Amino acid sequence: MSTAVVVGSGPNGLAAAVHLARSGVDVQVLEAAEVIGGGTRSGELTVPGLIHDHCSAFHPMGAGSPFLQTLGLERYGLRWLWPEVDCAHPRDGGDAALLHRSLGATAAGLGADGPRWRRMFADLAGGFDALAADLMRPVLNVPRHPLRLAAFGPRALLPATALARWFRTPKARALFGGVAAHAYHRLDRPATSAVGLMIIAAGHRYGWPVAEGGSVAITRALAAQLAEHGGTIHTGVRVRRPADLPAADVVLLDVAPGAVLQIFGDAVPSRIVKSYRKFRHAPAAFKVDFAVDGTVPWTDPRCGGAGTVHLGGDFDEIACAERDVASGRMPDRPFVVLGQQYVADPTRSRGGVNPVYAYAHVPAGYTGDATAAVVAQIERFAPGFGDRIVATTVAAPADLARDNPNQLGGDIVGGANAGVQVVFRPRIAPDPYRIGIPGVFLCSASAPPGAGAHGMCGFNAAESALRHLRR
Ligand SMILES: Cc1cc2nc3c(=O)[nH]c(=O)nc-3n(C[C@H](O)[C@H](O)[C@H](O)COP(=O)(O)OP(=O)(O)OC[C@H]3O[C@@H](n4cnc5c(N)ncnc54)[C@H](O)[C@@H]3O)c2cc1C
Repeated sequence: MSTAVVVGSGPNGLAAAVHLARSGVDVQVLEAAEVIGGGTRSGELTVPGLIHDHCSAFHPMGAGSPFLQTLGLERYGLRWLWPEVDCAHPRDGGDAALLHRSLGATAAGLGADGPRWRRMFADLAGGFDALAADLMRPVLNVPRHPLRLAAFGPRALLPATALARWFRTPKARALFGGVAAHAYHRLDRPATSAVGLMIIAAGHRYGWPVAEGGSVAITRALAAQLAEHGGTIHTGVRVRRPADLPAADVVLLDVAPGAVLQIFGDAVPSRIVKSYRKFRHAPAAFKVDFAVDGTVPWTDPRCGGAGTVHLGGDFDEIACAERDVASGRMPDRPFVVLGQQYVADPTRSRGGVNPVYAYAHVPAGYTGDATAAVVAQIERFAPGFGDRIVATTVAAPADLARDNPNQLGGDIVGGANAGVQVVFRPRIAPDPYRIGIPGVFLCSASAPPGAGAHGMCGFNAAESALRHLRR
């Protein structure tokens, strides 16, 4: 029987482990933290009984993941729950833009831009599964659906600032801009439309669900399936050097490229060392979790039915904030992602007190306190919010990095979506999971297709490892 060691138990590490174990490989997972899950953990971060997600919260890409869909994770307790509105984007002095799973309902709320929204997303949403089959693996492969890819490519390669001009109203532009900002890069740079287009297309196909009981349910389901196939997980084991690894035929690393170099040093070929050293990390998140008495007092009450709320004003304001953050400047009004997971999943609340999750985009390694800026962005669209806060827990970039070594400087997307790194990460290669040492593979979000709790980086890396084992 072949053997494998997986370093790291984030969704990609666990996805890799499950795929290998289901393929008959004897798998051990080593996790540095005392609890498994990396970016898919949840817990009582503010007051007892309130469940907050540490990191990933909304899962259009998880529900739409070509690999996770094959696993039947529902049998292991994973239950997706959908809010009434996937995402709301409140605006100063105007009504909020609302993103629904239904393309028609979204278009109907966008007035003059409804038909344009439909034209932009109908084919991407309708063909999302085909698109995902090509885009959620390395792009230097023969496409399975070349026509879909040819239709997506020209739009995806545009800067988000250029694509936003397709829409005529500030409302539709803002809605697109808030999702495009998940690229975590300057929106006037090439290919910054790609992430937003994919997330919106996935949302129109699968919605933006949360996992019942917290994103930890994804971790638990993957770990249960791994155990069923004989895999084991050891926590509190940080791998720092090759000697920390048990003997195995293949090793998969759910770590950042810099950590690969720290662990394997000179054993990594110099051309790969060079590209890993050039690998750029993204700006940071500053996370604030709130326990809130009652609900958030949104000016536009329809925001109360949304799982995700994007706080950043109109498109130009978001683009400026993202430009500042990418340039290392803290904006006065940072772009904030707010989560009301309890809207879809009331099991996370206790006796009228609800968990509200928020994070601001801040410069890499930001050392200031962005809590007031986050509260001010919420108050801007929900005056009186501050009076309802019962408890607050903050995770600054340094806390995020301490909590999970993959989150270098507070980077929550496994590396910048800048330049060629959007698609070629961590280096340009047909098999970017290979690190140049036979039998060792990178399986984290720093490899294609990048960030998100979809497990596809792990699945693709495990495929590469299985090819190696079959040789
Ligand atoms: C605040 C925040 C919000 C997010 N929101 C969303 C969202 O709504 N939807 C979504 O899909 N995604 C979201 N993400 C992104 C998503 O969580 C990540 O893209 C995903 O978790 C990456 O998975 P991974 O397995 O590559 O790495 P991680 O989840 O980071 O896991 C890596 C694991 O490896 C361990 N490890 C690292 N180095 C070592 C070592 N040397 N030895 C042993 N163990 C090691 C770490 O402790 C960690 O457990 C969010 C992330 C954050 C932080």
